[in-house]
Amino acid sequence: MSAPDSRPPGKGSAPGGVYLDHAASTPMEASVAARVAEMGAVAGNPASVHSAGVWAAREVERARMRLAARLGASEEELVFTSGATEANNMALKGVVFAARRHRPELLVSAVEHPSVLEPARWLDAAGLARLTVLPVDGEGRMRVETVEAALGPDTLLVSVQHANNETGVLQPVAAIGRLCRSRGVHFHVDASQGLCKAPIDVNGCAIDLLTASGHKLHGPKGVGLLYLREGVPFEPLLHGGGHERGLRGGTLNAPAIAGFGLAVAGYSAEELARVASLRDRFEAGLRARFPNVRIAAGAVPRIPTISNFALPGVSGKAVFQALDRRGVLVSASSACHSTLLTPSAVLKAMGASDDEANEAVRVSFGRTTAAFEVDTLLTALAELQEEVNACR
Ligand code: PMP
Repeated sequence: MSAPDSRPPGKGSAPGGVYLDHAASTPMEASVAARVAEMGAVAGNPASVHSAGVWAAREVERARMRLAARLGASEEELVFTSGATEANNMALKGVVFAARRHRPELLVSAVEHPSVLEPARWLDAAGLARLTVLPVDGEGRMRVETVEAALGPDTLLVSVQHANNETGVLQPVAAIGRLCRSRGVHFHVDASQGLCKAPIDVNGCAIDLLTASGHKLHGPKGVGLLYLREGVPFEPLLHGGGHERGLRGGTLNAPAIAGFGLAVAGYSAEELARVASLRDRFEAGLRARFPNVRIAAGAVPRIPTISNFALPGVSGKAVFQALDRRGVLVSASSACHSTLLTPSAVLKAMGASDDEANEAVRVSFGRTTAAFEVDTLLTALAELQEEVNACR
C-alpha cells in the first residue's frame, strides 16, 4: 500500500500553489509559525503555578495585551475561544441566557456568517428568543435606518458583522453601535474578516461584544476571542475549571493564543495598501478582459482582501474547479458553501437570482500574495474563457 500523499495541493512557488482563498484561511506567517512551534514544545499549562505554567501564562497575557490594544479594549474584557464560531455562539447564547426575559428579540443582519445566523435561529426555535433577520441593500450594506425601524421594546441584542466574508463589504458599525447604545440595546460585531484589515475600535463604535479569529489574519487555526464589555450580563456556555475569569472553562491553547497575538501585531498600513493595490490590479484586469464581468459591491467600502466576481453564463463552481486543476485556488463564493449546491445566501440577500448567485467566485488576497499570482489567475481565467467559447 502506498503512503498517503502528504504534500500540499496545488503547484507553483509556494506550498499550495497560487493560493487566493485567504478569506477561508490564511497561512501562518513564518514568525507566527515559529512561535507556535516553540511554545508547543513547552509542556506548561498556563493555569499551573510552577515556572513552566507561569511562563506560558505570561505569553498568553502578552497576546491578550496586543489584541486588547488592537481593539481599544481592556485586557480583562477578552475571552479566548477555539475560534470565531465558538465566540459567535457564546455572544448570542450567553447574552440571551443571562437576560432571563421572556423571548427577547434578536436583530441579525441577513448577511451574517452561519455561526451567527444559526445560533440565532436555534434560540428562536427553542423558544428562548425571537429572531428578526434584517434585510441589506443591493450592495450588501446594513442601513442604520433599517436597524432603527426594527428596534422595539423587546430588542435585547443587535448583531451586525464588521466585513462580509463573501464580498468584503464593510458595515457602518460605528453608526449602528451609537444607535444601539442610545436605546440601551447590546451590540455584537463579528469582526472575523475585518480585524486588522479595516479600523475597528470597541469604544469608538460603541460595541458590547466582538468576535475575532486567528486564522483569518495569518495566525493559527482553532483560536479566537470574544470581547465582552465590562458589565454586560453574560452566562458562560462552558463551565468547569474557572478559566478566563469563569467565562469559558477549558485549558487555554497557549501556543495558538501567542501566535494570534503576534499575527495582529504584524499588520501595517503599507501592507494593507499593497494588498489593496493587488485587488485593484485584479479587478482592473478582469474588467479589461471580460467586459461583461459583474463585481459584487465594487463601488462601496470593502476590506482590501476580497473580490467577488461573476462571469455571466459560467457557473462559479465550474470556474473554481477549472482553476483548481491549473493550481490556482479560489472559492465558489464562500468556502462554507463550496461543497453544497445552494446559492450564496449573501448574494441572494443583495438581490441576486439563484443563477446569478451560482455564478459567483470569491478571490481573496493575503499578506503573502504576490503580483505574479494575480497575473497567473487572470491568465488562467482568459484560458478558461477560450475553452468555454470553443465549446459553444
Ligand atoms: N465569521 C466569519 C465572518 C467568518 O468568515 C468565519 C470563517 N469562515 C467565521 C465567523 C468562523 O470562524 P472560525 O473558523 O474561527 O470558527
